[in-house]
Amino acid sequence: MKKSKKEWDRIYIKNLEVFARHGVYPEENKLGQKFLVNAVLYTHTRKAGLKDDLTKSVHYGEAAYFMDAYMKEHTFQLIETAAEQMARAVLLQFPNLEGICLEIAKPWAPVGLPLESVSVEIERSWHRAFVAVGSNLGERENHVEQAIQALDQCEDCRVEQVSNLIVTEPYGVTDQPEFLNGMIELRTLLEPEELLEQLHKIEQEAGRERLQHWGPRTLDLDIIFYDHDVIDLPRLQIPHSDMQNREFVLEPLAELAPYIRHPLFLKTAAQMLEELRSGKIS
Ligand code: ADP
Ligand code: MG
Repeated sequence: MKKSKKEWDRIYIKNLEVFARHGVYPEENKLGQKFLVNAVLYTHTRKAGLKDDLTKSVHYGEAAYFMDAYMKEHTFQLIETAAEQMARAVLLQFPNLEGICLEIAKPWAPVGLPLESVSVEIERSWHRAFVAVGSNLGERENHVEQAIQALDQCEDCRVEQVSNLIVTEPYGVTDQPEFLNGMIELRTLLEPEELLEQLHKIEQEAGRERLQHWGPRTLDLDIIFYDHDVIDLPRLQIPHSDMQNREFVLEPLAELAPYIRHPLFLKTAAQMLEELRSGKIS
């Protein structure tokens, strides 16, 4: 799903010199010192290059001014924090930017040894995730709608596409009301576990209502895919471990992305749906 960094084009900003106040020692926060910022901006320059059109690329002047201001306007103890926060801010600011490799160096770091500089380098990028949504309590449509809004309002997430909602028979425990199911495609800066945490928060917000009504679950949000990643943690498996057996997952997924391929089964969403419907086991 995510293109590898090799497939992205790169714009380099080298040794941008900024006088700022990041540091663990109070003197560093008071007096300030020189920092050097190195950034690789990952983007696609093909369209800009063919049409000679800056709006299709990332304006390196604007990016440099943005980082200069960001470094000066904030004071962090750690250059790790400066890098983390600034990478996020730059990714949120420039729509054509897919990712960034950011190095912040401190040539005058107060270490007391003759070193040339110390630096922190990080790579951050947008990720593409598919989140399955389901609800089987009274105001099902509202819960689904609120979940989509809550995800879109999360600063690190952008809802790109939402499938049609389908009414389905309960799966597993069948002695409960029908479900309303759908699929959401997201762009996100969150790591998989952070995304799961965010989904749990949104579920809990809907869950408060559930407690009042004494009813069954109001909202279920599951991560189906996250880029092409395969994750096997006790509390998180991606791709979702039962997706191939769930028509209510595959149908809305195939609607949004019929050709998206499962990274382990190597089958497309449309193929998996077709095989499930025809009774074949994946
Ligand atoms: P289910 O979604 O299976 O009906 P829950 O919503 O109660 O059940 O989720 C139970 C647990 O499943 C969550 O607490 C979460 O840690 C874990 N889990 C594992 N993989 C995923 C995933 N891909 N998306 C969401 N939750 C997951
Ligand atoms: Mg769940």
